[in-house]
Amino acid sequence: MAEQEREQEHECEHVRVAVIGSGFGGLGAAVRLRREGITDFVVLERAESVGGTWRDNSYPGCACDVPSHLYSFSFAPNPEWPRTFSGQPHIRAYLESVADTFGLRPHIRLKHEVLMMRWDADELRWEIETSQGTLTADVVVSATGPLSDPKVPEIPGLEGFEGKVFHSAQWDHDYDLTGKRVAMIGTGASAIQIVPAIQPQVAKMTLFQRTAPWVMPRMDRKISGAERWLHEKVPATGAARRGFLWGIRELQVGAFTKHPDRLGLIERIGRSNIARSIKDPALRARLTPTYRIGCKRILLSSTYYPAIAKPNVDVVASGLKEIRGNVVVAADGTEAEVDVIIFGTGFHVTDMPIADRVVGADGITLAEAWKDGMESLRGATAAGFPNWMTIIGPNTGLGNSSMILMIESQLNYLADYMRQLNVLGGSAALNVRASAVGAWNRRVQERMKRTVWNTGGCTSWYLDANGRNTTIWPGTTGEFRAATREVNLGEYEVVRAPVREKEDA
Ligand code: NAP
Repeated sequence: MAEQEREQEHECEHVRVAVIGSGFGGLGAAVRLRREGITDFVVLERAESVGGTWRDNSYPGCACDVPSHLYSFSFAPNPEWPRTFSGQPHIRAYLESVADTFGLRPHIRLKHEVLMMRWDADELRWEIETSQGTLTADVVVSATGPLSDPKVPEIPGLEGFEGKVFHSAQWDHDYDLTGKRVAMIGTGASAIQIVPAIQPQVAKMTLFQRTAPWVMPRMDRKISGAERWLHEKVPATGAARRGFLWGIRELQVGAFTKHPDRLGLIERIGRSNIARSIKDPALRARLTPTYRIGCKRILLSSTYYPAIAKPNVDVVASGLKEIRGNVVVAADGTEAEVDVIIFGTGFHVTDMPIADRVVGADGITLAEAWKDGMESLRGATAAGFPNWMTIIGPNTGLGNSSMILMIESQLNYLADYMRQLNVLGGSAALNVRASAVGAWNRRVQERMKRTVWNTGGCTSWYLDANGRNTTIWPGTTGEFRAATREVNLGEYEVVRAPVREKEDA
């Protein structure tokens, strides 16, 4: 191909880095790239504003169950957090403020959904097709997050339901729930926040609980004006608060990863949380989990049990199986006529749709490469997908601490990756060796064997279709920080562009 033709073919915009998504991961990556002196990058966002899962999840009662001073960037402390566990509007506003404070707006392309990206081995770059045209990038940072694509189970009869249906992450704020008969499906982290928020408003709620969750009291309180003043005037006090919150969680990790038997002690707190509000012994029994606490995410709420003790709430200890007309039917045969069905049924985590849109060096998609389960090196890079990195990828999830810590660890890795690429020069890319991915995952899975997530006697979204835990990090956040401090070039092969034919010149 003549040089001129090649130039024409590549008239589309080219950037050093394309970041996909503008939640915590994407905005964090953008800040980090700028700090590394890289300004030639874009952030592609499919929605109309930044914020990721904290933009999409606006359901009543939505808040974070990790304390705000820990669930925020270390490089962007917010002395103004109003509560110990701040609500979604404040977290979303925080992310908007990060975009402004760090000068990220010029990089952000809203309403740019990534439709497909393909590795171009000749040019050593990614060709990225978006809903608003094509661009190319040397490096892709996929920060689409595990909680971005809502999951609605395939329930026979759902199509024919004449009432209102929506998912917790796609709340219809124009729909008035006042006086309605509601079927709430699921009892995960989202549902247990929704139930107390809407229970006083609705005529009747039928709550479909397939598996009882462990729910612990939530020690939420307003952060006083004096505390906020102190954090503003003496930033070290905010850092100390963060350090304390981090430290106690690090100390708890061993019980989850090595000694799940010790977690039995805190099951007592969960049982007394039920007993405090639920007087009916039969309902108490239905609400008491039958697996080790921690196996599924431990939920925090001081209002969930009081809400379901109210006379307008029925707990059906069974999954939703079918819908007949406007009647929802549980697996145990219980029926209820309803006006609205709200799915609090979680997200596509181990089968994330973005994986279908990434075509690597061997011409296969990431979903195909991951057909037997997600696998990456250090939660970041995948063999056969050069210069492609994901933020909070496989085995980076946490059971008891802040994902922002994990994101920041991966940003360190990204920064070093970019440094290594610069040293190698413009005509090189890095492709992680399959052997390095294999070795890393063998170590992760070996450690996983003893953890509560694998031994606790439950099924959860932490496990994939093959029963393998590809989501959780089986260690402390400190260990992950150490493992992602820098890129070990020995774990990568350096890919160079093929030498061009003479007549090409
Ligand atoms: P989730 O934890 O995946 O829970 C989904 C729920 O739907 C489970 O209770 C599941 O039951 C149930 N379910 C699925 N199909 C069902 C059916 N046919 N009938 C009845 N129930 C059914 O989803 P989520 O609550 O949206 O939470 C997802 C994640 O988001 C959380 O784990 C957490 O990481 C995050 N989150 C965090 C916060 C926070 O405060 N930081 C708040 C909300 C969400 P089974 O248990 O039987 O599978």
